[in-house]
Amino acid sequence: MHHQPVLKNRLTLLERADKFISDIYFTDCNLRGRLHGSSCPLESLTSSLSSKRITFTEAFQLTFAPYTVGDTFGPTWWTCWFKVTLNIPESWRGKEVHLLWESDGEAMVWRDEQPVQGLTKEGEKTSYILSDCLRDEEPHSVTLYVEVACNGLFGAGQGSMIAAPDPNRKFSVQKAELVVFNRDVQELLTDFEMLIDIVKELGEGEQRGYQALFTVNEMVNVCDPSDPSSFSKAHSLAHTFFSQRNGDSQHTAHAMGHCHIDSAWLWPYEETIRKCGRSWVTVIRLMEKNSDFVFTCSQAQQFQWVKSWYPGLFSQIQQYVKEGRFIPVGGTWVEMDGNLPSGESMIRQFLEGQRFFNHEFGIHCKEFWLPDTFGYSAQLPQIMQGSGISNFLTQKLSWNLVNTFPHNTFFWEGLDGSKVLTHFPPGNSYGMMGKVEELMKTVKNNKDKGRANHSAVLFGFGDGGGGPTQLMLDRLHRVQDTDGLPKVQSSTPDKLFSQLQADSALLCTWTGELFLELHNGSYTTQAQIKRGNRQCEALLHDIEIAGSLALCRNRTFQYPVEKLQELWRLLLLNQFHDVIPGSCIEMVVEDALRYYEDIRRDGAALLHDALGALGSKGNSTGVFNSLPWERHEVIQSPAGADRLGLALVRVPSLGLSPVEDTQPLVTVSVTSQADGTILMENGILQTVVNTDGTLASLYLINANREAISDSCHGNQFIMFDDVPLYWDAWDVMDYHLQTRKPVLEVVQPPRVVSSGGLRGSVSFTLRISDKSTITQEIVMDAMCPYIKFNTEVKWAESHKFLKVEFPVRVHSPDATYEIQFGHLQRPTHRNTSWDWARFEVWGHKWADLSEHNFGVALLNDCKYGYSVHKNTMTLSLLRAPKAPDVNADMGTHHFTYAVMPHAGSFQDASVIQYAYNLNFPLRSIQCAADTEPWSAFSVNSAAVILETIKQAEDRKGSLVVRLYESHGSSVTATLCTTLPVQEAWHCDFLERQDPTRPARITSEGIALNFSPFQIVSLLLIFVKDTAGNQISA
Ligand SMILES: [Zn+2]
Repeated sequence: MHHQPVLKNRLTLLERADKFISDIYFTDCNLRGRLHGSSCPLESLTSSLSSKRITFTEAFQLTFAPYTVGDTFGPTWWTCWFKVTLNIPESWRGKEVHLLWESDGEAMVWRDEQPVQGLTKEGEKTSYILSDCLRDEEPHSVTLYVEVACNGLFGAGQGSMIAAPDPNRKFSVQKAELVVFNRDVQELLTDFEMLIDIVKELGEGEQRGYQALFTVNEMVNVCDPSDPSSFSKAHSLAHTFFSQRNGDSQHTAHAMGHCHIDSAWLWPYEETIRKCGRSWVTVIRLMEKNSDFVFTCSQAQQFQWVKSWYPGLFSQIQQYVKEGRFIPVGGTWVEMDGNLPSGESMIRQFLEGQRFFNHEFGIHCKEFWLPDTFGYSAQLPQIMQGSGISNFLTQKLSWNLVNTFPHNTFFWEGLDGSKVLTHFPPGNSYGMMGKVEELMKTVKNNKDKGRANHSAVLFGFGDGGGGPTQLMLDRLHRVQDTDGLPKVQSSTPDKLFSQLQADSALLCTWTGELFLELHNGSYTTQAQIKRGNRQCEALLHDIEIAGSLALCRNRTFQYPVEKLQELWRLLLLNQFHDVIPGSCIEMVVEDALRYYEDIRRDGAALLHDALGALGSKGNSTGVFNSLPWERHEVIQSPAGADRLGLALVRVPSLGLSPVEDTQPLVTVSVTSQADGTILMENGILQTVVNTDGTLASLYLINANREAISDSCHGNQFIMFDDVPLYWDAWDVMDYHLQTRKPVLEVVQPPRVVSSGGLRGSVSFTLRISDKSTITQEIVMDAMCPYIKFNTEVKWAESHKFLKVEFPVRVHSPDATYEIQFGHLQRPTHRNTSWDWARFEVWGHKWADLSEHNFGVALLNDCKYGYSVHKNTMTLSLLRAPKAPDVNADMGTHHFTYAVMPHAGSFQDASVIQYAYNLNFPLRSIQCAADTEPWSAFSVNSAAVILETIKQAEDRKGSLVVRLYESHGSSVTATLCTTLPVQEAWHCDFLERQDPTRPARITSEGIALNFSPFQIVSLLLIFVKDTAGNQISA
């Protein structure tokens, strides 16, 4: 029959082959129908429900009752444990025997008290292999336990994946039986599938596609599904095709197994632990069967979880890490958000991650691995380089809604000029399946054709875990070197990046941030998480500084190494790329807020201890300043002489002083005017508050400049409709700007709360809707160059966005935003698509709009979303998305922002320092009445900020200090200290001392040179007395 000429009908030939392996049509006579041979029911199947996630030992003691396949169990987030007893028929001798298990919850098979296999229908894993080839001496009677989580790979969204979880979902097991698995049929099915896909992908324009078509057609001709002896002939036809080799110039796909597991997202942190267990044990099973299989795995936190929950699995992983096949990558604690964490937090991600990998595996990651994050800070290249990393892999910019990013392989140059070799897998995915389509896309979509001839192909189910399957490995194995397709090699990140580096002569460079033109709502969603992050970053900063200074002042003080590490790790965990952006379900929000509470509570105790050790004993009140400049501020203090308990204090940099009542040069005055407006003045600023709480005027007295734009009002609240296209918690779309509505309804007009002296304030209430209100206190302090807006919002909206606007009298094409250890400019105009795609951007503590010699800065204490269009500066305050958390941001919010007009540049006006002051309040301490003001450190250049002081890792009693150049200038600076520093060495962010770079100590202090935005870390070693004790300061 097959000697008849083949008619020129591509369509029928192709569909004929398709139907031959269809799992829907003709399974009575096609090849697919022969995949499973005989089947046999289980001996017994019993189950027991648990509302909690329990250990195997606990599950073993449950009472099990008979279970019938098809029975439902639940609800969502519970666990159903199954006890499975089975008897393999003697007659299956020589066969491959599987337990077939199909359930709609993610499952883990336990055998002999150990986890042995993850099963998930969504992740195409429904078989546990009992025997590859049944021998008489193998056990035929086996008892297994199957732990079924009542959630899918993507949680349990009600109606759509990202909808809030359905709390009452029921689950079931649809299949549980023994089958004979026909491996030869599976092999042939894979041959067919790959050839059919080649026909489809190469299309009608390529001769190679027709060769595949005729091969597959001939295979159908020779293959008789009912006669296994015919299979080898078909298989050898496929083999001949796959073995026709590529030319030397062909693109190489570096295949690496991967399993992206979100540390929390549509499921809580606790479930992630089990996802890691299920996914990684499956990887180990695949490694046992496939000697060239390599798996890349990020996030030290997940390794830590597996180590404590699945110690047996962890030691197997350690073995494969040693063999170089299970490869820890990324070097960070979690795959964190790339925008919102502070600079120090980002460094700690690497410090904790790299140290963990080194400690557990003796591994140092050479690549940063962040495939799924919503944008990448321009400081990341420097932070990577300082953490011993010079390669970077991601792909998320392929999600850009407006502009196509022009490169796949390129050098990324950061804010300070540091460069890292960067690769975006051109297949635009970190969860490929080993399909022909993905390989072709990897070649065709590569935007660096002729420049970079190597790409990563990361395969394995991801996001919710799952990981690679045997089928994916089989697919890739077939086409390692097949003419018409890229070459495929099992590879490692090291091999890929060395190859890219070796051929890097023609690569382009991208300078500055990698801005994701999507998910810009995530700068604002879940305001409590953002606030928790900012406040806890400040708290840990203060604890470390107070603890470090206490260490030098008080020989008995014990630096709380372990507790601090624990709190840092909680903070770093919450910086995961679906937690801090607010794109997670309500259960995760509750977990995250609880972790912030833990940090606040335990952190307050640590700070209390450190400050207690730092101050001299006594009953007077003092003030501690954790920032590296002298501060002269109004504070609330028990020693405040003022009727409001206020005092004006002067505290030296990184030090303390007793509260002494100093008098301001000019006091604040607040005056109600005849027209109902209120005038506030402090000798620096003068402002007029309208009857609706907006500012009619904001006047910088010395500069003789009005800051508010003509016939406009500052502090104008605005509501927008906020309905994105799909990703509710993530996205605010450009069109929301067309729905601008000022908040105008006054409930309580401004009234004077404090008429002046050290502090003047005015309070008012606005109605946003019948469900939501804003109450605000406008505060002006003596000696302070900014006005604070302490704000409380009762918020019960749906798909609305609240912002506050300041139209200012400044004209400039660019606005400046603070980022990690520096700042950058973004346009205020919308010339090109790259400009208008940034209609909503992120920044940290401040943003500034300046023209020559004058500008206005907007400061905040827990916000991250901004926009500056033309001369209107806008701070994003609250959103109200409904998925995946239906209650996102509902409730009462407190936050503070401030406006600061200034003469000169923002650098010269100390905007950076004032934004720090707003975020790091002076802290009260107990001290002796005769306490002298004391400063541990100061820096003689306003451009250089001493950000961090901590005890060095593994070097008790030595300190690490971290400074950065904040103005964008090259400067020479001296770090002055009253501590008995004997030696100072440059070190990297992993605190590895550079023996070639001692820092020069002069009579003034430690001399340092900075280039723009450079971060410098120093290791300080102190003078010891003859007994080897550190000398106290
Ligand atoms: Zn992710």
